[in-house]
Amino acid sequence: MLIDDVRRVDLGTFVRPAEEADTGLPRVEAVYGYVVRTPSGVLLLDTGFGIADEETEAWYRPVRVPVDDALGAAGLAADDVALVVNCHLHLDHVGGNPRFPGRPLFCQRRELDTARAGDYTVPELVDFAGASYQLLDGEAEIAPGVHVVPTPGHVDGHQSVVVVCDDGSVVLAGQAHDTASQWSADALAVRAAGLGHQAPLPEPSPWMARLLEFDPRRVVFAHDAAVWVP
Ligand SMILES: [Zn+2]
Repeated sequence: MLIDDVRRVDLGTFVRPAEEADTGLPRVEAVYGYVVRTPSGVLLLDTGFGIADEETEAWYRPVRVPVDDALGAAGLAADDVALVVNCHLHLDHVGGNPRFPGRPLFCQRRELDTARAGDYTVPELVDFAGASYQLLDGEAEIAPGVHVVPTPGHVDGHQSVVVVCDDGSVVLAGQAHDTASQWSADALAVRAAGLGHQAPLPEPSPWMARLLEFDPRRVVFAHDAAVWVP
């Protein structure tokens, strides 16, 4: 695997209402998935914005790119996908999951428990016909060189993917951070004391040091086109 072989797939956009945006203004947000050809086959991280009820539709006003079309733009078809990972099970990450029956679907056990408890996501997109969950309790290498690392914060069961390529590692952060800038600040928080800064200092996310151990050359996000590089 090479860094450049980790490809983004464009799954559409939605409008985050002013009530949810920290700026007090509505914000258009992208929905990105990622594909990579691993030694165990093509891996897809996240599958797009799901169809929910009318109220949700009116709230987020999504413009979807069907996962088949998104994969097609990357020269792939749904049948090519061997492994599916969801960073978490919110509506905007699992929309195309039912397109992958029988394919191992990796998520944290606590995330599936949360989703099944209700009031969290679209149940039909979680327990669809042929759903084949491979439940993880913490960190795991799910294919040679492909590591899933828990990154709780946005939700308790959030996870990110690290792809160890021949020319360096790529972190598929998902929504561990919403933006590359937030990652950048957190990465500096880890290093602050080492850089000679005195307290008080920001507390980095508890899993940030683990992700940085992979010495990522590139970090990509579910809702930000910006890419972090060291
Ligand atoms: Zn999201």
